[in-house]
Amino acid sequence: MLADKYDSVREQILSACRNSQRTPESVQLLAVSKTRGADEIRQLHACGQRAYGENYLQEALDKIEALQDLSLEWHFIGPIQSNKTRAIAERFDWVHSVDRLKVAKRLSEQRPDSLPPLNICLQVNISDEASKSGCTPEELPALARAVSALPNLRLRGLMAIPEPETDPALQRATFARVRELMASLQQDLPQLDTLSMGMSADLDAAIAEGSTIVRIGTALFGPRNYANTRATNNA
Ligand SMILES: *Cc1c(COP(=O)(O)O)cnc(C)c1O
Repeated sequence: MLADKYDSVREQILSACRNSQRTPESVQLLAVSKTRGADEIRQLHACGQRAYGENYLQEALDKIEALQDLSLEWHFIGPIQSNKTRAIAERFDWVHSVDRLKVAKRLSEQRPDSLPPLNICLQVNISDEASKSGCTPEELPALARAVSALPNLRLRGLMAIPEPETDPALQRATFARVRELMASLQQDLPQLDTLSMGMSADLDAAIAEGSTIVRIGTALFGPRNYANTRATNNA
């Protein structure tokens, strides 16, 4: 079951790459495993999947602990409370949801010297005016400059979560705006190489507009099982 879904998501990514003349290696699949059990991650790892995205810190730490015997790459993609940065700095390889300097500074200070720099994407609020997550496009240049100067972080690019939209042309228009924001940052920061955009419902449009990491949950694991997660997150 999981293996079949994995194959079909991989096939969809390959076909989106073909349609936009991109190489398959230019798009990484991030399996979003929030609410899924460690056993399911183990199954997906057996299929060849190495990178996992988590939104809820305590739930993620439990799984990281339970799966220590595997060589996995962990990406934090959820909202960050500034008093919870230490565990993120210590246990994750990537953070996609940095949207303010205070959090970036803490992650840099708390990143252990024994580990490589923490890979960072800045979350930009591209379409959802009501959401409090993500910096505004106007705030982005100054934030990117400041974050790129922090010693224990490696600024990689941008992450966006557009409002749900079913029209592929409108999906593409929003992702194109993220790509343009990135291109303008790259004039000062040519090392930026990551666009984290595209989820189960809009990954084709995201790849057509240059996404380098698609974050896929539902299409891999089926509907989320929040019963799995509530207990640990309220603890
Ligand atoms: C849950 C989540 C995803 C996965 O969404 P699906 O629609 O299930 O693929 C991707 N990115 C973020 C930030 C998420 O919170």
